[in-house]
Amino acid sequence: MGEPVARETRHDHAVVGTGGGPLAQSVERRVGAKTAKALGKLGIRTVGDLLRHYPRRYADRGRLSELRDLRLGEHVTVIAEVARSDIRPMRNRRGAILTVQITDGTEVVTLTFFGKHRGSLEFHARKLRPGLTGMFTGDVSNYRGSRQLLHPDYETFEDLDAEFAAVDRAERPIPIYPAGQSIPTWKIRTSVAAVLDTLDADDVPEPLPEHYRREHGLPDAFTALHQIHAPRTDGEWKQAMKRFRHEEAFVLQAALAQRRAAALAEPAVARPARSGGIREAFDARLPFDLTAGQRDVGAVLEEELGEPVPMMRLLQGEVGSGKTVVALRAMLQVVDAGGQAALLAPTEVLAQQHLRTVMALMGPLAEAGMLGGAAEGTRVVLLTGSMGVSARRKALAAAASGEAGIVIGTHALLSEVVQIPDLGLVVVDEQHRFGVEQRDALRAKADVTPHLLVMTATPIPRTVAMTSFGDLETSTLRELPRGRAGVTTTTVVPADKLRWVERTWERLRQEIDDGGRAYVVCPRITSTGTVVSGEDPDGEDVAELAVEMVGGAEQVVADVQTPKQDRPTMSAVEDVLPMLRALPALQGVAVGQMHGRLSPEEKDVAMADFSSGRTPVIVSTTVIEVGVDVPDATMMVILDADRFGLSQLHQLRGRVGRGTRPAICLAVTTAAPGSTTFERLSAFAGTNDGFELAETDLRLRREGDILGASQSGRSSSLRLLRVLTDAAIIEAARTAARDLVARDPGLTGEAGLARMVADSLDEEAAAYLERT
Ligand code: ADP
Ligand code: MG
Repeated sequence: MGEPVARETRHDHAVVGTGGGPLAQSVERRVGAKTAKALGKLGIRTVGDLLRHYPRRYADRGRLSELRDLRLGEHVTVIAEVARSDIRPMRNRRGAILTVQITDGTEVVTLTFFGKHRGSLEFHARKLRPGLTGMFTGDVSNYRGSRQLLHPDYETFEDLDAEFAAVDRAERPIPIYPAGQSIPTWKIRTSVAAVLDTLDADDVPEPLPEHYRREHGLPDAFTALHQIHAPRTDGEWKQAMKRFRHEEAFVLQAALAQRRAAALAEPAVARPARSGGIREAFDARLPFDLTAGQRDVGAVLEEELGEPVPMMRLLQGEVGSGKTVVALRAMLQVVDAGGQAALLAPTEVLAQQHLRTVMALMGPLAEAGMLGGAAEGTRVVLLTGSMGVSARRKALAAAASGEAGIVIGTHALLSEVVQIPDLGLVVVDEQHRFGVEQRDALRAKADVTPHLLVMTATPIPRTVAMTSFGDLETSTLRELPRGRAGVTTTTVVPADKLRWVERTWERLRQEIDDGGRAYVVCPRITSTGTVVSGEDPDGEDVAELAVEMVGGAEQVVADVQTPKQDRPTMSAVEDVLPMLRALPALQGVAVGQMHGRLSPEEKDVAMADFSSGRTPVIVSTTVIEVGVDVPDATMMVILDADRFGLSQLHQLRGRVGRGTRPAICLAVTTAAPGSTTFERLSAFAGTNDGFELAETDLRLRREGDILGASQSGRSSSLRLLRVLTDAAIIEAARTAARDLVARDPGLTGEAGLARMVADSLDEEAAAYLERT
């Protein structure tokens, strides 16, 4: 890494891309206090902020027209000479009329102005003296068979230079800025112009290496700022936009490449596979064959774990694609090599489930030192926040002594008292709940940097992965294990179609009678309290923390965006439970409940009862969202489905259809057909392909939200870059940035880039501090 950045010197808002110098100066000095205050409401504080406040679009003044070409109804701008001007009283009522004839030497057009009296028109008459040339803009109308411009805007020219300048300006696109109530777009335009005028090329840092600019035909930063704010042609602003998209991608990718390079530069312990060890024994007792995808990814992990360089890999795959088995095999390879592995889950429920799954898959291999334990076995311990003191102490001791080869836990694992001295591999499940900082906290537990495997069931489009998880390499499990139905039919149920709703419960009854299990998901626990998605006591903290992290917060951001109080009734477990129990259609069917207010023991019992069929229907919050595995579950009813983000809905749906029987999912909503919300749910019903949904989600959602940025109007460092459509730019920037960082890790040869990377990290840090 380059020079350490002096963060403590920047208490104020961090600024993207100022590079210090004149761009870091407050706008107030340039535009005055009043305008500065108005700009401040848009988050613009420095000259740099103002210059990065790009136009939203460009208006066309209309090309200059020739007088002979004017057509009725057109909005036109013409240049012509004043031939005659005349003020006279109106004939039939009070008031006066000024008519001005303008000509280009051949054609004549009339300008007409009305006034209350003669005096109010003299101002115009004085300016529109015969013989002067001017530029006139207005709508063409008809006046007694000839063409006129009524009350046109105009300016007259004192000399030819003024005329040429005006011609030039008339041809230019007019930038239209994102404005606010505090300030109109034209005021922003004049502020930007004032600032641009005083700027020298040296004042603007250039983060793009020259060879990169040449290769992609991009203007330099200084030129591009002029082109985007004061373009002479459409081509200019388009070129400038392209340049700034590249710039945003490049700065981000350089930051990620540096982060990755720094991580890779730390030595890791090679944990090569060993024959005759626990992993082989594990493979031998697996009740199924690995899918081709599991084998391929397994081979990649095996090789990377065998290197003295830290693995940094993201494993994505739909719910049920068998990621856990893949991760477990990697953990066992590390145990074989004498190390320990930690599996970090986002909630208690999931940590417990992982423990059960891992114990079941490992059997005697997880019971080293115990009666019946296998000789080549190890121990698996659980560490969560709600454990009793003595259980916790035992688990801590087993982890610290190295006796436990595998430690499974929630974010309680991050606590400083937890020691895992031989930690060789960290597996983070469901990454969207964790931020980079938490990942780092866990990795810091080991004496030597451990290998890292991040797993996510939220399919991430490639370019989003490159942006949010740009420091990780990606592997994907695309197929589901055979024998799995994997098909869930989804239907959107409008809540006001009472017959549909009735039918929903009848259908649920049928499913139970056929031996299935059903989830009924509600957005909240009680009808009064606040909504907390994923509100497991552990999960709550983690979800909140995750929102604070830049990147990887996609899922959680969607949760948070769900309005919390506005809309009135929302289904609550507390209300739905008695409702279902009283329902004639469900007579004799036991209905259980599951949510974050239950104690860990109650949760265990609830899940066990559901799984065994004692309570075949469970009313639940999103606690069941991730990872929970009950193969017999064949139906899910999601109440107030519009309250959930697309990827969250997809996660929820992944709880069913995990057995051999096809499943159904009913998304009940009060959203009006035709609304964006309904469209979102229709998209959800329309496909089981998580990748397709993720892309739809991107399309329907504001871009800034994807990267977890720009909450509370804070400026994000990505303004023009679109992760969906700018894939080529992101790829190019990533390749080049990685090359550059490989050659020059401190970016010493690219001062402008180094400065902007530092600024963007500053902003990230400032944003983080602000929220803690
Ligand atoms: P994920 O973590 O990706 O959601 P899991 O690893 O939990 O998926 O696997 C889901 C279920 O499928 C588990 O019950 C697991 O034992 C089973 N499974 C995993 N791999 C296979 C396979 N190759 N063949 C059959 N079943 C599998
Ligand atoms: Mg899983």
